Amino acid sequence: MKKKLIAMNKKMKKKYIIGLSIGAGALVLIIATLLIVFRHVHTFGEWEKIRDASCTQQGVERRFCDCGEMQEKKYDKLPHVESDWIYDKEKDNLKKICTSCGKNLQFNSLENHTHNWSDYVTKTEPTCTSEGMDIRTCNCGAIDEKIISAKDHSFDEWKITLESKCGVEGTESRTCLICNEIESKSISALSHIEGAWVVIDGKKAYPCVYCKTVLRTEEIDASEYLDISNDTVIGLGSCEDIEIVIPSNFNNQSITKIGENSFEYQVITGVILTNSITEIGNSAFSKCLELTNIHLGNNLTSIGQKAFYNCKSLTSITLPDTLKTLSDYSFAYCTNLEYIKIGNEITKLPMYVFSDCTSLKEIHFNGTKEQWNNLEKDNDWDKNTGDYIVYCIDGEIIK
Ligand SMILES: [Zn+2]
Ligand SMILES: [Zn+2]
Ligand SMILES: [Zn+2]
Ligand SMILES: [Zn+2]
Ligand SMILES: [Zn+2]
Repeated sequence: MKKKLIAMNKKMKKKYIIGLSIGAGALVLIIATLLIVFRHVHTFGEWEKIRDASCTQQGVERRFCDCGEMQEKKYDKLPHVESDWIYDKEKDNLKKICTSCGKNLQFNSLENHTHNWSDYVTKTEPTCTSEGMDIRTCNCGAIDEKIISAKDHSFDEWKITLESKCGVEGTESRTCLICNEIESKSISALSHIEGAWVVIDGKKAYPCVYCKTVLRTEEIDASEYLDISNDTVIGLGSCEDIEIVIPSNFNNQSITKIGENSFEYQVITGVILTNSITEIGNSAFSKCLELTNIHLGNNLTSIGQKAFYNCKSLTSITLPDTLKTLSDYSFAYCTNLEYIKIGNEITKLPMYVFSDCTSLKEIHFNGTKEQWNNLEKDNDWDKNTGDYIVYCIDGEIIK
């Protein structure tokens, strides 16, 4: 019985091993089939240029599959690109090179050759700022270059492009006649130059002759010891001032007039009238040859005959806008008088009022051209004057 059992066991074991072998074989078969069915086929992208072929390197293109596999194509090198004969001046020989890679391709030592140079011809004209070049050639191919140095600029005269002013630099420039290059330089700023005094706000102010900036001021003190009678100044008295400042009152009386002949022939250089003065009498400052500067106040209404006759140092006079009356010869023979300012209250320009003011250049009239033209003018009011211009508020009139 036991033997029978063992025999049965052996039989079953054998069957089991056979079954197992068949199963393994089938598995291998299935896997092999799957491998055949799903095997990877490379899928390459576009050919990509890695580099062009040149005379020193092959050209290369590559393409790749996603799995990393690469394929490569190579292209043959290109031939060298031969230059013309190049002349080496220092070594006096000729060579040809590849214009692409620079390799020497051919050489000619020029032994037993004597150059037969042509005349020089211009290759590049020199300019004001760059060199030019002349060349000569030999039939062997040699080229000889000669550098022509740059020309100098040929500038015209310096011209002022911006006037300098007090405290402000100007500029001047000049232009090259050949290349139009412009060269500029600065002109040093001007310094203020103190001009003659004017009266501003009751003080003597000294403006710059250029920019009119007031550079300093001085208090004005009335002159003492003038001859004064009632409301009228009648003479210099014992006053030693050379610039006379008329006081506004005397003995508690307001001074309103400069009397006839009061300062005639006196050596005085300046006169300041206070605002109380309304009248200047005949010949009051006649022949004051040194008189250069007058302030007539802001209330003056009349100036008498020959009041400033022959005041030949006077160069400018500002008549206040309140002035109505000028008289015959009031400013005649003021031979250096260049500038007159006059208001539009004036009623007429009487006989010889500005005659023989031979330097007269500018009359500044505080009215229109029409008002000036309609202003009554006696004969010879401006006899023997210079070629002045009348500046009106709406334009100019030339004498
Ligand atoms: Zn692949
Ligand atoms: Zn090359
Ligand atoms: Zn030669
Ligand atoms: Zn130039
Ligand atoms: Zn100035």
